[in-house]
Amino acid sequence: MDAPPGGAREVTVNWRRYRFPRAATVVVCLDGSEPGYIEAAIARGLAPNFARLMRTGANLTALSAIPSFTNPNNLSIITGAPPAVHGIAGNYFLDPSSGQEVMMNDPRFLRAPTILAAFHEEGARVAVVTAKDKLRTLLGAGLTMSTGRAIAFSAERAEQATIAENGIREVLDFVGLPLPDVYSPALSEFVFAAGVRLVERFRPDLMYLSTTDYVQHKAAPDSDLANTFYAMIDRYVGELDARGVVLALTADHGMNDKHLPDGSPDVLYLQEWFDARLGAAAARVILPITDPYVLHHGALGSFATVYLPAGADEAGLIAELAATEGVSLVLPRAEACRRFELPPDRVGDIVVLSGRRKVLGTSAARHDLSALDAPLRSHGGLEEQKVPMILNRPVSIPAGRVLRNFDVFDVALNLVG
Ligand SMILES: [Zn+2]
Repeated sequence: MDAPPGGAREVTVNWRRYRFPRAATVVVCLDGSEPGYIEAAIARGLAPNFARLMRTGANLTALSAIPSFTNPNNLSIITGAPPAVHGIAGNYFLDPSSGQEVMMNDPRFLRAPTILAAFHEEGARVAVVTAKDKLRTLLGAGLTMSTGRAIAFSAERAEQATIAENGIREVLDFVGLPLPDVYSPALSEFVFAAGVRLVERFRPDLMYLSTTDYVQHKAAPDSDLANTFYAMIDRYVGELDARGVVLALTADHGMNDKHLPDGSPDVLYLQEWFDARLGAAAARVILPITDPYVLHHGALGSFATVYLPAGADEAGLIAELAATEGVSLVLPRAEACRRFELPPDRVGDIVVLSGRRKVLGTSAARHDLSALDAPLRSHGGLEEQKVPMILNRPVSIPAGRVLRNFDVFDVALNLVG
């Protein structure tokens, strides 16, 4: 820890400096919280705490990392850095060392320390609660549970938590709620309820809560399901605020309808597109949205990366694909990595983004859409990059600064009044 003149303690991580929290500081990632959800709940009188915070604290917007997917953005938020630095460019990628497509949810893929781990190392009490277990090991990377100053668990596997692995046990009793279903709004409620208990009993200096976008994948802003969900969140926002914490809420990505008028997903099947031009399986299309929780989205999102065979006419394919209906941007690897700050060794030869209504698939036979029980809503592209950033304290943002969602710890620790 540095001790500059004035005695304020600071922690430097990934080339950014953060002030040691003077009050417990809670950062929340509201998964898939497209702008409009909170406003609609407020308009219905269902979110009085959000209404108050947005009036007396800070009501800002920020841009997510691209791809606008869950894991790259959660890791960006908790490291304060883009994917080029932390390495997590998707939920899923083609491992060049093995040629296998693998989940990127193992800490060995993480290339940067988290802000929480850096503060923990400097003596802070830190806690992480995630909805889904897929993120728990990444977000908890670098925490040493044996210090008694670190806790990291998921709502999904709350009943399996141990002192050695999670820094806490008997989480269901601690939180006072039953184990939630992984496909339910209750999974996110459990995260918030745990957060309130942790503030009361564990007294963290720094805490990160990350919910799931189960509701946002199903329901648009101002729908009954969404309004009920945000009313629930609002109650916990009020509870956290009442406990005197500095509270900052942002999102990993937005969410848009991605379906045709008849309710079927509006898909461009990219593997089929390349197979028709280059021969079957000559190109390899990777969808980094892919994860084990396909009921949300059928592995359909607005970002794909493609490995081309040697000798392919890359420029010609890019030009033809870019002119295809529903495709918003096609870039070669180097340009995509520069523009979106992505790690080149985890990105294919070209990057494809689709527009507001369109999603990208591999081939029709490889997507089981029977599990989708509502017209598809999804994310991944530029249209889902804008997210809210709301704090319960006023903040001073330098004029002209474009906020990223992964600036949220900087804002909460360094820029609150
Ligand atoms: Zn998400």
